[in-house]
Amino acid sequence: MAGGKLLSEKQSAELATRLSAAYKEAHYYLNFKTPIDLVVAAIISAQTRDETVNRLTPALFAKYKTAKDYANAKPDTLTNDIKSVSFAGNKAKNIISTCKAIAEKYNGKVPDTMEELVELPGIGRKTANTILINAYGKIEGIPVDTWVIKLSYRLGLSLNTNPDKIEVDLKSRIPERLWGKFAYVLKTHGKTLCKDVPICSKCPVNGICPKNGVTKRE
Ligand code: SF4
Repeated sequence: MAGGKLLSEKQSAELATRLSAAYKEAHYYLNFKTPIDLVVAAIISAQTRDETVNRLTPALFAKYKTAKDYANAKPDTLTNDIKSVSFAGNKAKNIISTCKAIAEKYNGKVPDTMEELVELPGIGRKTANTILINAYGKIEGIPVDTWVIKLSYRLGLSLNTNPDKIEVDLKSRIPERLWGKFAYVLKTHGKTLCKDVPICSKCPVNGICPKNGVTKRE
């Protein structure tokens, strides 16, 4: 993304505070009960709609309860269990290798530190942040997904394209008390008002937002 206006730190904090207040109900979008459920749901969710993942996971979580259950699954069987999602074969392989590592190295318990999580196959910073926040209530950073990448630029919170750099920018500009939900606030905002053709006239941050890259708006 070339060019664009970056908000000042003060404006960024104001924008994040207003948006967070407007979407108090925003929350993580995948259903899970245990940390291992969340690891599996996060792997399945790549390039797949949340609703599709949430439709599939109740039966999956009833069949496989522990890291060892997934680690011992036959790839063909697990692929068949998740066949309603895209790239089911690759995702099944990733689930098995990630769960093998959790079963062998951590005795079946999903680790609860960033350093350990990102060492696991198939887990990057985005998923690690998601697990820490939603499974363990540990807020060390902000998960940078496609919504966060798109809206951070549009709203002038970061002009970077690399997710790790975007996270650094967001952490330096957004009050820490808002980090835990900020990715879900942005996603809700993107689905509600800040769509491909954004409805700026109804937006709570119209007036602060630089609308980077927006060519058409309501
Ligand atoms: S709806 Fe418009 S004003 Fe609001 S955040 Fe999106 S681009 Fe900015």
